[in-house]
Amino acid sequence: MPKRWITHLVLLCVWLLGALLIGLGAGAPGWWISGALALWLTSTLLKLYDLDRVLDGHKARTITTTSGLWAELLARVARYKDKASVRKKKYHRLLREVRESTGALRDAGVILNAQNEIQWFNAAATRLLGLASPRDIGLRIDNLVRHPEFVEYLNDADDRVIYIPAPQVSAGRISVQVIPYSRKQRLAIFRDVTHEYRLERTRRDFVANASHELRSPLTVFGGYLDTMLEDPAVTAGWRGPIDEMQRQVDRMTRIICDLIELSRLESMDGRAAQEFIDVVAIAKGIGKDFARSSGPELRFDLAPDLALLGDETQLYSVFYNLIVNARRFTPETGHVQVTWRPSDDGAVFEVRDTGIGIPEEMIARVTERFFRVDPGRSRAAGGTGLGLAIVKHALQKHDAELTIESQLDVGSTFSCHFPHERVVSRGGTRQAAV
Ligand code: ADP
Repeated sequence: MPKRWITHLVLLCVWLLGALLIGLGAGAPGWWISGALALWLTSTLLKLYDLDRVLDGHKARTITTTSGLWAELLARVARYKDKASVRKKKYHRLLREVRESTGALRDAGVILNAQNEIQWFNAAATRLLGLASPRDIGLRIDNLVRHPEFVEYLNDADDRVIYIPAPQVSAGRISVQVIPYSRKQRLAIFRDVTHEYRLERTRRDFVANASHELRSPLTVFGGYLDTMLEDPAVTAGWRGPIDEMQRQVDRMTRIICDLIELSRLESMDGRAAQEFIDVVAIAKGIGKDFARSSGPELRFDLAPDLALLGDETQLYSVFYNLIVNARRFTPETGHVQVTWRPSDDGAVFEVRDTGIGIPEEMIARVTERFFRVDPGRSRAAGGTGLGLAIVKHALQKHDAELTIESQLDVGSTFSCHFPHERVVSRGGTRQAAV
């Protein structure tokens, strides 16, 4: 027990003993003790009153006159109150600073609860999304920002970044990312990316238009070169240069076709279609195309009952580019294994070759436009340097991922991982965890 309590109890005992002794001397000790107790109680009540006043934020009347336990108690309470008030002021200042700094942010921040109801938002959210306080506090955000991709994204609960039209800017664009930060709350960050979006669209449109414009003159060149090759008046000395010109025209035509395909993929909003895709038939069809040409042996191991939901042109392009690359970079003595199989996450289309492989430090770069490990070899083999960029984009549209494993002089494996939502049985029903 603390010393102050022992002193206090000793004082009470002395007080009562004194009353008892006086009572014994003067007679009626019961009355004396009762009187002493009543006085003690009154003084205790007065000090309790002081304590109550201190807790209410007033100064204690008797705090300076009282000593001992009560003085100490009152002083301690007063000290705690002072500390609490300093802390409160500090939190208020902090809160004001947080409010001012979030208010100065150019990005909109919205705090959502587990039901996607708005709990708080900053000033930029008013500018960017048209939210108003307190009108929109407590409302579901998907009732205010109604873009289907945003609604789907909110329910998916992943933290990737999506791009949707800006509700407040005509032809504007905003990026959205929802980050969970506690068990029940999420922070949605909206950023105005209209400027970057317009620049990117200008670049894309330029590439698409330039490619379209170049295609027609190239077709004319190609036509004339064909005619010249068949013309008996053209001397033998010219055949070599005309052949070379024709090869270059073919190469430019291929590059232009790939550029057009890439900009078409880039300019498509949202995800790829959900048509039924018979992967087995497509893979076998590509195999047949190469059946009579020389090159490494093509082997197939295709799960007969597995199909996809997607865009046929895009997926054909993915499978074709991967198989062409594998053949292009594998010697005739090697082989290319094409596998289509179920996986834990959905299904995998895999092209494994026993070719030249890719240096480890370059694996991450091969999906960049015009990146080639060996530009001379790629060009000589008819490559455009755009195949894997097309593959990567087309797979993204299908929520799929490309992984690459490779070892120099051993071979490479390109795998397309499709999620469950895209995988169906060949009968057309969605696969349950295959
Ligand atoms: P390209 O038209 O040159 O094949 P891609 O974009 O398809 O363009 O591929 C980019 C580069 O990646 C190729 O030039 C090549 O260096 C490398 N590459 C792609 N596939 C393979 C493969 N199966 N084996 C080895 N290297 C590959």
